[in-house]
Amino acid sequence: METDSSPLNDYQRRFQQFALQSAVRRLLPDSRVSKCLRQISQYPNKKTPLYFSWVKVKQSVQHKKTFFTGLDVCGSLWVCPVCAAKISERRKAELEQMLVTHRARGGELVMITRTVPHEFANDLKTFLTSFLKAEHFLKEGKSYRNLLQRIKVKGTVRVLEVTHGENGWHVHTHELWFVEKSYPRLYGDLSGLAYDEEERRYYVPAKGLFSMWVDSVHRAGFSGSPSPNAFGLHNGDYAAGYLAKWGVQPTTEWTASAEMTKSHIKTNARMITKNKGRTPFDLLRDFFHGDKNAGDLFKEFARVFKGRHQLQYSRGLKAQFAIEEKTDLEIAQEFEDHAHELGFLDYEDWLLILKHDARAYLLELAKSGWGAVSDYLLTIRKLKYV
Ligand SMILES: [Zn+2]
Repeated sequence: METDSSPLNDYQRRFQQFALQSAVRRLLPDSRVSKCLRQISQYPNKKTPLYFSWVKVKQSVQHKKTFFTGLDVCGSLWVCPVCAAKISERRKAELEQMLVTHRARGGELVMITRTVPHEFANDLKTFLTSFLKAEHFLKEGKSYRNLLQRIKVKGTVRVLEVTHGENGWHVHTHELWFVEKSYPRLYGDLSGLAYDEEERRYYVPAKGLFSMWVDSVHRAGFSGSPSPNAFGLHNGDYAAGYLAKWGVQPTTEWTASAEMTKSHIKTNARMITKNKGRTPFDLLRDFFHGDKNAGDLFKEFARVFKGRHQLQYSRGLKAQFAIEEKTDLEIAQEFEDHAHELGFLDYEDWLLILKHDARAYLLELAKSGWGAVSDYLLTIRKLKYV
C-alpha cells in the first residue's frame, strides 16, 4: 500500500487523482463524479452538437499548470478526488486567512474534538444520524449557549470526519472557536476535566464542556460514554502542533486549517499503523488496488454523506473576515483567469483520451508544447484502427 512518505510531484498527484476518480466511476456509475472532467459542457445551451464541441487545454501564466476547460465538473467534495483537492485547497486558504486575521485582531482560538463510543459502527447511517443528534442536543442546551456567551465566542467552524477502522465506522468532529480575546484559564476551565497524575486517569470535578457532551451523547441514544482521552480541547497553536504529528506529508507543515479542510484527503499512513482507521479516500485507494470490500465501504460512505456539509461556519462568521460565500461547485468550476490556450481537442480525440485514461498524461505532455500532444494523438488514433 502506498504511503505519502515522499511528496508526490505535480504529475503523480494529478495522475493519482484522475485514476482514483475513474475508480469512483466504477463504484458510482450514475453519480455526477462519473462525468466530472469527462463530459463536454454544452454551454450555453445543449443545441451545439457534441461533434462540434471542443475541449481546450490551457496553461496558467503564473504557475505553469495545465488544465482543461469546456468540460463539466461535479464539485463533489466527499467523493471526487479531483474536485476535493481543488475545493480543499481553497477552503484551507480561506481558513488560514481567517485565523491570521483573527489573531492579528487580538483574538484567541479554541479547538475541540468530539468523539462518541464505538456503537452503530457497522451502520454508518445510524452512526452519523445519532452523532449529529448528539451535537444538536449539545448546541441547543442552555448551559452550552451560556458558556459560549461567557467566553465571547464570535463564531465557530466545524468539520465533519469519518474513518473506518478495525472497530468499523467512526464519526467525529473538530470545531474551531473564534474567541474574542484570551479568557483566563480558558483551556483548563472549559472542559471541566482534570487529570489525576497518581491514578493516571481523567476525572470530572466540575460541570463543563465534557459533561455536557456526555449528556448529549446519551440523549442521542449511545449507551456508552465518550472517552475523556479523546475529548480534545486545545488552543490553535496546540492544535497545529498536535495535528502536524499525524501529517503524512513530512515536508508540509499541517496547520490547524490544513487539518480542518483536508482531513478526508490525507492518507492516514500513521493512523493505519495505529489501527485508527482509513479515511474514505484511503478506502478508495485500497479499492483501486483490488480490495473489493473497501469499495463497498466507500459506496456506503458516499450514500450516507451525500449532501452533508464537511465544513459548517456559524452564521456571519465569514462576513467578519470579508470572505465571499461560495459553494463547492462554484469553486470547482473556477479557472485561473491568467492562462493561455495551448490547444484543443475535438470530440473524437477526446473520446480517445478517455478511452486510454490519459487525461493526466495529456496535461503533462501539453507542458512541453502542443507538438507533443499532437504526436501522442497520432499514435492513439492509429491504435483505434488496429
Ligand atoms: Zn469532480
